[in-house]
Amino acid sequence: MDFAIPAATSGSLKRFREFLDLQLQPHLSVWYAKGDIPQRFFRDLGGGGWYGMQWKNRRLSRRSVLREALLTEEMAKLSPGVAVAALAHVDLGLTGLFLFGSDALKERYGPSAVRGDTLMCLGNTESRAGSDVAAISMRAEKTDGGWLLNGTKAYVTNGLISDLAVITAVSDPQAGRNQRLSMFLVELNREGVHRTKLNKQVWIPSDLTRLQFQDVFVPQDHLLGQRGRGLQQVLTVFTHSRVPISALTLGTAVGAFELALDHANKRAIFGQKIANFQAKAFEIADFYAKIEAARLMLWKSCWLADTGADFRQASSLAKYLAVDVARAVTLWAADLFGAVSVIREHPIHKFPMDAWASSLGEGTQDVQKLVIFRELMKRYA
Ligand SMILES: Cc1cc2nc3c(=O)[nH]c(=O)nc-3n(C[C@H](O)[C@H](O)[C@H](O)COP(=O)(O)OP(=O)(O)OC[C@H]3O[C@@H](n4cnc5c(N)ncnc54)[C@H](O)[C@@H]3O)c2cc1C
Repeated sequence: MDFAIPAATSGSLKRFREFLDLQLQPHLSVWYAKGDIPQRFFRDLGGGGWYGMQWKNRRLSRRSVLREALLTEEMAKLSPGVAVAALAHVDLGLTGLFLFGSDALKERYGPSAVRGDTLMCLGNTESRAGSDVAAISMRAEKTDGGWLLNGTKAYVTNGLISDLAVITAVSDPQAGRNQRLSMFLVELNREGVHRTKLNKQVWIPSDLTRLQFQDVFVPQDHLLGQRGRGLQQVLTVFTHSRVPISALTLGTAVGAFELALDHANKRAIFGQKIANFQAKAFEIADFYAKIEAARLMLWKSCWLADTGADFRQASSLAKYLAVDVARAVTLWAADLFGAVSVIREHPIHKFPMDAWASSLGEGTQDVQKLVIFRELMKRYA
């Protein structure tokens, strides 16, 4: 086993930290106040080659999954809300195109998406169907030259700012549960698309948007993958996105943990630093052990993905462990700051809420356990 990070990746990480110091950190308070990330930032990420996908030799291709995880953790340490917007663009929207789009679609949208000029999202969840992905009711009816979409996607990260959405819909209502859905690439400037920004308190400043579709025409060549395979395809996208969301969640845990360690070394109570209380020292050691365990599982899932092995169970294990520690450590860290942690502008304030968001996005803890259990049983059945 080799746990060394390749030199090229360490170099990227160092340059990315410098990029974040200049292009993210100074702007965060304004973006949080406005609840908005300027398009310029997505372009800066694309221009710097910081996304997990690239357009190279006239092809859309994935960069190292480990590199993307390290960069995502770094961005989430500063702002899980900004990191999730980049993730939704690349690991939900663009990954849908990458895995299931035709060469013509990739050529048409891929270059501008990796530059950050065209922004993407994925809409699957509906008000009555989240964990039960197959239960969606949005309809796709066949029409001349394409499809007509009708229905509502309840919670779409980047729904407000995106140009393109990967959308699941029922194309074959009479078919069995596993053959009913298809996946489409929808241009969101089409007639009949209505967007409503939701008032959320997590993952600020990214947007969470309701997307309503009324007779929205989607050309036939914008069907992604195979008709009737939408369920399997969207689950495959989630398997991929669970690696970066685990990294984002780990970054959420580490961001709060590092702020707390710094505070524990500075703040004196009863004549000594908080870190000098042995009760706190044990809590710190305990959380560090759990963070390191989650990181090892994340790196294992990256390694499996980068070597072309099956990473379905590993990515769910990584997300499960990362969410578990993030929920606990972020609350503990906020507690360590005392009253100031409830002030909205304080850097620690966002972390417990963002850990909560991580526990929902791309599958709840129960859903991760279902995947872990099913994969385990495949080996014992
Ligand atoms: C901030 C945020 C951003 C999001 N962004 C997107 C996005 O970009 N695109 C998108 O499509 N969706 C998005 N979602 C939706 C998210 O994926 C769903 O919220 C999530 O999958 C859970 O679905 P649900 O909310 O319908 O909860 P439900 O599925 O109704 O779950 C309710 C509860 O039941 C539990 N449960 C479910 N199934 C089982 C089971 N079999 N056994 C035991 N317990 C179970 C769950 O763990 C949960 O505790 C986002 C959500 C949030 C909060």
